[in-house]
Amino acid sequence: MTLMARSIEKMLTDPRVWERIEKHSMPEPNTGCVLWIGHVDKDGYAKMTGPRFHYKRVAVTVSKLVLSKKLGFVCDEPALHKCDVSCCVAEEHLYNGSYAQNYADMIDRGRRVIARDNFGKYTNV
Ligand SMILES: [Zn+2]
Repeated sequence: MTLMARSIEKMLTDPRVWERIEKHSMPEPNTGCVLWIGHVDKDGYAKMTGPRFHYKRVAVTVSKLVLSKKLGFVCDEPALHKCDVSCCVAEEHLYNGSYAQNYADMIDRGRRVIARDNFGKYTNV
């Protein structure tokens, strides 16, 4: 089990964690997204500090934590967003998928820039 998964396992039953999530997120009524207003990583994903394990802490992805609560087990796969809003932590917008599916979704939505065309425009190949 990864340190991230162990952290999630511990955080699932800690009411203070869920208070923190509530405090650091804001519902967006038009889309149903719940936007994270706390710390985000370089890709815009919601992060929070996990519990300490032998002097080590990892930053836990909040969407993974929320998805684990929804599923009822620790999700160690990527938490995918139906809404494509990376900082969204709405339970209903999250589902789990394999890394392959994650990659396919990324290509589908044109998020991955692979090449530039003759006019210097970014395109997906
Ligand atoms: Zn959303």
